Formats: sequence, structure tokens, C-alpha cells
Amino acid sequence: MQGEQSDHYGVFIDGKFRDGAETFDVENPATGSSIATVAEASEGGVGDAITSAKRAQPEWAAMDPAERGQHLSAFAEAIRERVDDISKTVTLENGRPIGQSVGLVSSAADYIEYYAGMTTKIQGETIPVPGDQQAFTRKEPVGVSAQVIPWNAPILLCCRGIGPALAAGNAVVVKPAPEAPLGLLEIGELATEAGIPDGVLNVVTGDGETTGAALTTDPRIDEITFTGSVATGQIVGKAAIDNVVPTALELGGKSPAIVFEDANLEDAVEGAMKALTLMSGQVCFATTRIFVHQGCYDEFREALREAVESISIGPGIEDRDLGPLVSNDGLEKVRGYVDDALENGASALTGGSVPDREGYFYEPTVIEGADDDAPISCEEVFGPVIALYEFSDERETIRRANDTEFGLYATVWTNDLGRGHRVANEIEAGSVMVNQYSGSYPQTPFGGYKKSGLGREKGMQAIDHYTQLKTVNIDYGDGSDGTPGE
Ligand code: NAD
Repeated sequence: MQGEQSDHYGVFIDGKFRDGAETFDVENPATGSSIATVAEASEGGVGDAITSAKRAQPEWAAMDPAERGQHLSAFAEAIRERVDDISKTVTLENGRPIGQSVGLVSSAADYIEYYAGMTTKIQGETIPVPGDQQAFTRKEPVGVSAQVIPWNAPILLCCRGIGPALAAGNAVVVKPAPEAPLGLLEIGELATEAGIPDGVLNVVTGDGETTGAALTTDPRIDEITFTGSVATGQIVGKAAIDNVVPTALELGGKSPAIVFEDANLEDAVEGAMKALTLMSGQVCFATTRIFVHQGCYDEFREALREAVESISIGPGIEDRDLGPLVSNDGLEKVRGYVDDALENGASALTGGSVPDREGYFYEPTVIEGADDDAPISCEEVFGPVIALYEFSDERETIRRANDTEFGLYATVWTNDLGRGHRVANEIEAGSVMVNQYSGSYPQTPFGGYKKSGLGREKGMQAIDHYTQLKTVNIDYGDGSDGTPGE
């Protein structure tokens, strides 16, 4: 396999790797050194990938759906067999602790398996109409889906999108982030090895401004799924409107947690620790603002401080609790938010600086005393940083939790059943967890309120996004008593 932890990767088009005129380096964020060079797809490669997807899609869509499902099951199985290798590749390129990568790549296989089982269940409805007519709907594939992926969880986010797209009979062109394209190139090749026909899944590499824009603005693309920042999502959304194609935008978050005084504080601290350490906090749904009731604030802050100070730091491959940030730019951004908060009256309960070691590491950090409208309270920090806020009133804290342009995810910690339901109903977010941090499965829909996105991924709902609904109405009478409605 060309991709297998090699030091040079090609672009994956029509079932084969091929080179490009330019290459770029992928670096290991734990050391700052290059681990591989990758061919840049550029406009030519993107055009060829779309041509190959266009050619392959009709046959893939016409295949017996049960057989399409078998191909997807074989693909899921192939990913499972290669979990360790692919996880290692991803850990080397994005810095995530290897144990976390293994969990995510395994979950990615679960997504493909879930949608493999759905190929035979994508069905329309019959609709009552007058006279000798038979009206029904068909769910037909949209055609070629363009999927733009960020670097933080490339395999999971890709399989979350391509699972339903492929199950519904679409072909896909995937564009990984330039920071972490290697694991996805390996996934492309694995799909081919598992029997998915050439051209049904292509992976084009390069930066957003050239390769990404070439893909999302091409008039032959029939759908765009984008996961990334709000700013890029707005550009991609405009490209989708220009070509009048559907788009799913999975964007950022500024997720609150609310800890009530009747909560199990040990569980709430454990949730906060997951938020800090999963991909070093570089996760769209990461809890970054924790509102703690004044009745348990001191106890919670002390337990959190102790837990955070026990976090071990090291390269992802050593599987410590906390890996590096993805890049020097990412590190500088985190440093900027924390320094700004500290200069403006907040304090660090723990952490707050860059450790003296190679790689793009930042200390796990808890900030207290930041204003609700400070940048650290409103914008995505994308690092191992949590801000604590004290509250006394339920209604007021719901208002503060909702006082953000984002609405992706929220967590409520309480043992009062009524309060758990009440607060979950009033939080403006696409997902609300009560007494747990990440209860996420392939079957549970995911997406954002407000600027966190458009549309829903996962679950059966995702199939609707990757299909277009056709209404067929057949007049089978002699015309005397059937009156077509339109
Ligand atoms: P980003 O927007 O900078 O990049 C995301 C992808 O878009 C990359 O592949 C990039 O190359 C590409 N891109 C950049 N410019 C483009 C353009 N003009 N046209 C087409 N593609 C272009 O985001 P990032 O910094 O890589 O990722 C972090 C962001 O992603 C955060 O905001 C995070 O919250 C969000 N995210 C959201 C989810 C979700 O499911 N809601 C999941 C993970 C990450």
C-alpha cells in the first residue's frame, strides 16, 4: 500500500495514487519536523477527480442496494483491520494521543457499518390522491458529493459524511486539511481494496484556497458537506448557493456546561477533563465555559484544579493524557487568548503558559474571572483551556450559556430530573448532554443551532441530505375520473 506510513503520498483519484506538479510537507506537531510530502491535487487533479466520480456514480447508484451495502460492510471491516496503522498515521500528523485515535478510527468504521445497513431501507412513500392515480416518492442520490474535512478528527468526520453519501448511491470527492491528509489517503486506498469501485471515493489534497475552492466551486458538484470554521463555511456556503446545490455546514462551537449544586461533582470534573484532553481541546464541541453554582463552586474548582494538575503531557505516540496543538499558529492563537484574559483581570487557577519543550504544546489551563464578553468567553480558543464562571440563578445562567453566536453542544450536570429536562429544553444547541459529556453514536443526529452550522449529519436524517425527493404520479385510469392535481 503506497499510503502506509510512507514518506511520500500521491493524490487518490479513480482508485489509484498519482503525483502532482507541486508537493507540500506534513509535519509532526509533537516535534515540528516533516513526516511526509504529499502531492498537491490543484485544479487539474480536482477536475480529474470530479470527472472520475461523475463517471463512476451512475453504476454505483444502479447497483443492487444490498450489494452496495455489502461493499460498505467490507470497507468498514477493512478499516477495523487497519485501525492500529491508520491511528498511528493520524496521531503523527495531528498530534492526538494514540489511544484517542484508535477510539475515533474504530468509531469511523462503526459509521460506515451503520450506513451499510441502510442501503436497503432508503425508501419513499405512497401519497393518497384522488381517482385512478398512484402517487409516490422516490429518494434518489444527488450525484457527486464534495466533502471538505478539517484536521482535528479527519477519519471520523470523513466517514460520518461519506457513510450516508455512499449508502444513498452518490460518489464522493474528499478534501482533507493540508495539516492532516495522510490518514484519509490511506482510507481512500482501503475503500478500493475493499471492493468499492474506482472513482466512487476520491481524495484530493492541498490547501483550501486552491484545491478546496476548486472543488467547492466546480459546477459539476451536486452537494457540498463542509466541516470547519465559520469563516470558511460562509465562503463554501456562498459557493453552494452560486451553483444552487445543497450544503451541510458543520462549524464551530463555544459549548457551555452548567454544574448545579445537586450534581455529582466527580462526574462533572471527569467531563471537564475529557473536554480539556480530547485532541487538546481542539474539538468543535469542546466544553470551554463551565458555569458552576455558587453552592458548589469552591469544591468543584478545587477538584478540577487537582485533576488538571495530574494531566500528563507528551507526544501523541506516547499516549499521554494531553498531546500538542496541531501547529505553531494554533499554539500562538491559544497563547494570545489566555494572555489577553490574564492582562484584563482574569487569573489562571492552573496552567496559562507554554511548557519549555519541543513541539506545539500548551499547558492544560483553567481560567477564572473572565468577563462574559471577553474574547476567551466568546470565541473558539481551540486549545486545552476552560473558563469557570460562578452563578446563583438557573434562569440567569441559561441566558448566559445561550449568550453566544454558536449553538453546537451543551452539558448539564444535575440530579434533579425536572431541572435536567427543563434546562436541556431551553439551551440553544443542536445537542445537549445531561450528566455525561459525549453520548454520541452514529444513530444520534448532530449539527448546530445559530452559527454552528446548517443541516444535520449522522442518524437516518443524513440520508435525506444525500438524496433528492422525486414525486411520481401515474394516471392508470381511462381519464374519466382521475383529475391530475397540477
Ligand atoms: P478551516 O475552516 O480553516 O478549514 C477546514 C477545511 O476547509 C480544510 O480542509 C481547509 O483546507 C478547507 N478550506 C479552507 N479554505 C477553503 C476555501 N476557500 N474553500 C474550500 N475549502 C477551504 O477549519 P480548521 O481550522 O481546519 O478546523 C477547525 C474548525 O472546524 C473549528 O472552527 C471547529 O469548531 C470546526 N469543526 C467543526 C466540527 C463540527 O462537526 N461542527 C467538527 C470539527 C471541527
